[in-house]
Amino acid sequence: MKIAIVGAGIVGLSTAWAMIRQGHEVIVFDQGPIPNPRSASFDQHRMIRPHYGNQTGYTRMVGEAHDAWHRLWDDLGANHFAETGVLAVDFGDSIWMKATQQALEETGTAFETVDRQGIEAYAPALATQSGTWALHAAKAGVLFADRIVTDLASWLARNGASLRPKSIVSNLDADAGQFTLGNGERVAVDEVVVSVGAWVSRLLPALADRVTPVRSVVGYVAPPDALQALWADGPALFLMTPSAHLYCLPPVSGSELKFGGAPLLHPGDPDRPVTVDAEELRQIGHAISPYLKDPNGHRMIKGAGAYYADPDDKRFIIERYGRATVVTGCGGRMFKFGALVGQRVCDHLCNTLSIERLSAWARAVA
Ligand SMILES: Cc1cc2nc3c(=O)[nH]c(=O)nc-3n(C[C@H](O)[C@H](O)[C@H](O)COP(=O)(O)OP(=O)(O)OC[C@H]3O[C@@H](n4cnc5c(N)ncnc54)[C@H](O)[C@@H]3O)c2cc1C
Repeated sequence: MKIAIVGAGIVGLSTAWAMIRQGHEVIVFDQGPIPNPRSASFDQHRMIRPHYGNQTGYTRMVGEAHDAWHRLWDDLGANHFAETGVLAVDFGDSIWMKATQQALEETGTAFETVDRQGIEAYAPALATQSGTWALHAAKAGVLFADRIVTDLASWLARNGASLRPKSIVSNLDADAGQFTLGNGERVAVDEVVVSVGAWVSRLLPALADRVTPVRSVVGYVAPPDALQALWADGPALFLMTPSAHLYCLPPVSGSELKFGGAPLLHPGDPDRPVTVDAEELRQIGHAISPYLKDPNGHRMIKGAGAYYADPDDKRFIIERYGRATVVTGCGGRMFKFGALVGQRVCDHLCNTLSIERLSAWARAVA
């Protein structure tokens, strides 16, 4: 089978990896370089955690996601995961936290309920309050995203995939399996996978009212010297505060401490490059400062960010249009499922998984 993959983020590259392993002819197109530093999949790290509120299906899926990453590490000959654990901390009597605890119990996911004293031990940099509690999952942590997509692209090139950077795709005729490149070349294939992240409605306008391109930024942080080792040895943090969720990724394996969260999310135009100015960095610091013991000692040093396609119901979308399989609605949490989704899309293209079952699986409603 000749398959074109449009979009070389984690979804497209993982699908290409799975299809090459099955012996198919794979061509990967991206409008920018491969991997593309402007994609949502390119940053120092992304969190993998089983904490998903009442979306129990995604909690269950995280176990499968770990297995898929292990298969990828075997092929890459490198492990790009640090099992730091993830501590989700409740600062505001959150319904989401209670639902998460129930989902962890229902799915048999190993976790520990942590009281205020325990939080101090796991995360000494946090300023807790009376009543603050947490859920700790040990099998969770940090995926080194930029290393993963870089190694995946090299693996694909070595294993026979054709990589076509700087090839913007337009005029998709999904029924015919054809599209046009920026240089005017018309491409015809047996199957097309559309994995273009926040740009999806440019190729499939019908999806515009179901997904919103969202600009998401993060801030890299220099912690006080006295806390550097404590952050590095600690878990990744997911903070449910009364106003918004926030997160902190620890500085492990050569990566830097990073803060992000809901206050830094806004609808936007994915063609506009993300530059994070001093005011945005200040906002990131301001959002997290009430939850740190030494907020002034944490210095925001630089920002980063990208756009993702946010689905209206917060569930992934995998659908078929003619010869095209579209993976979208990845939102701010698809990276962790990237390798697994690639394998499932491959199962579908190889006729071992129907589109109905694949779509339902992606929505994780069961
Ligand atoms: C700041 C931030 C923090 C996040 N944190 C987490 C986290 O902690 N955990 C987690 O699991 N997820 C997280 N996510 C979400 C996750 O990164 C995304 O869901 C995931 O990377 C999306 O991957 P993708 O392959 O669908 O899209 P992308 O990585 O955006 O790739 C799409 C690619 O398609 C290309 N493209 C677009 N249009 C065309 C075209 N017409 N022709 C050719 N190429 C085209 C683009 O250039 C791009 O390279 C975060 C996202 C952001 C932005």
